[in-house]
Amino acid sequence: MAHVKFFSGKTLPLEMHKVRIVQKLFLPPVEERCRLMNAAGNNTFLLQNRDVFMDMLTDSGVNAMSDLQQSAMLRADDAYAGSETYNRMVAKVQEIFGFEYFLPVHQGRAAENILATAFVKPGDVIPMNFHFTTTKAHITRLGGRVEELIIKEGLEPVNDCPFKGNFDIPRLETLIQEVGVEKIPFVRIEAGTNLVGGQPLSLQNMREVSAVCKKYGVRLILDASLLQDNLWFIKSREAACKNMTIREITTEIASLMDIIYFSARKLGFARGGGISLRHREDELRMKEFIPLYEGFLTYGGMSVREMEAIVVGLDESMDEDVISQGPQFIEYMANELHRRGVPVVLPAGGLGCHINASEFLAHLPHEQYPAGALAAALYIAGGVRGMERGTLSEQRNEDGSERFAELELLRLAMPRRVYTLSQVEYAIDRVEWLYKNRALVGGLRFVEEPSVLRFFFGRLEPIGNWQEKLAAKFREDFGDSL
Ligand SMILES: *Cc1c(COP(=O)(O)O)cnc(C)c1O
Repeated sequence: MAHVKFFSGKTLPLEMHKVRIVQKLFLPPVEERCRLMNAAGNNTFLLQNRDVFMDMLTDSGVNAMSDLQQSAMLRADDAYAGSETYNRMVAKVQEIFGFEYFLPVHQGRAAENILATAFVKPGDVIPMNFHFTTTKAHITRLGGRVEELIIKEGLEPVNDCPFKGNFDIPRLETLIQEVGVEKIPFVRIEAGTNLVGGQPLSLQNMREVSAVCKKYGVRLILDASLLQDNLWFIKSREAACKNMTIREITTEIASLMDIIYFSARKLGFARGGGISLRHREDELRMKEFIPLYEGFLTYGGMSVREMEAIVVGLDESMDEDVISQGPQFIEYMANELHRRGVPVVLPAGGLGCHINASEFLAHLPHEQYPAGALAAALYIAGGVRGMERGTLSEQRNEDGSERFAELELLRLAMPRRVYTLSQVEYAIDRVEWLYKNRALVGGLRFVEEPSVLRFFFGRLEPIGNWQEKLAAKFREDFGDSL
């Protein structure tokens, strides 16, 4: 629908919205970007937003709200107990997923904390298609272990598999038989898979996972944080679902699950989260942790204004014109970069465009963090802030050795409804320039390395003076231009 054919013969993704509130952007000169990147320890998380031209770090909590969301925020009811806002949120989640019970949380990882606290014991094994950083941290904190069962195509940067986030079903069944159901409190589906490029699962694969879980009596939990992209991919790539509405696909997915949790920083275009539950026993098991860790049961740490925005945002997530925008911009960016020879993950997934850093910087050894080096280099090249999704995002093994990530990716997230196509063109251009000059990019090493979630706060330095050389080459090629 939002792919419009132009008279010139081109087909471009077209924004089905207009911008009515804007935020001014700044682009510091390249020498300044070089200095700022170093002041931030070569970690894009530590840059100040005022120094960033295009913020492609994440899609969490940075998606644009609609006029309807903003106006809904005015009617928020901030009663501590019995608030109307809470009733509206419960009713909307019930309408969309069809489960009776609901627990509010302040964001996605808070739901993971509550789920892990309620269900995970030392020695437990949690099968999932792929881990997410905070999910895994909560499970391992409680002595559990994550087993990743993504199909092998999921870890290949390029192929033509439309659902690279699918579970390997035979491996799921073998694992359950080997480990024993008593050690598996739940199976977790992440739709789509954040760390492997926002790649989706098919509805058919979810049905098969659910059938295995039913056969062995294991609880099935859906992480629906990135569900809106996955819904669009099911609708546009899964032939059997072509004539289903987004709501029908959502209902069918929910019918397979016992619990669905989500980050409303993504699903719902606002800031918050929730856990939707089919069974009363599960609700009772988790309920007591909400006032303990989050806030009272009617707001769970969220602002009531944000809750009103989520109620409207969830409805917008059921609208094809709205949810197709992100994936179509990402597909445009990935295909354009591919056409210019830049190694990207294909087919394009949701969440963002993912650059394959091991191939982009094939001359760098794995220990020098190619994805981290690429993130630093792209900020210097264009003021574009991406996120390292490779070895830096892993935790070291227990013996202190590096755990090398299977994929070294630089993620360029596409916040929903935020950037225009000319800004996306700019990012494509700077990535292409960097690719032509990739031989100038060197590695990084740690100066300060935290032991948990080191990618958030760790500080690194360049090995050698490659960054000054890169900035000088930029000046030479672009003259006075920023
Ligand atoms: C972002 C994300 C989370 C965590 O959500 P936050 O609201 O950022 O805490 C959990 N799971 C997936 C798949 C995500 O993408």
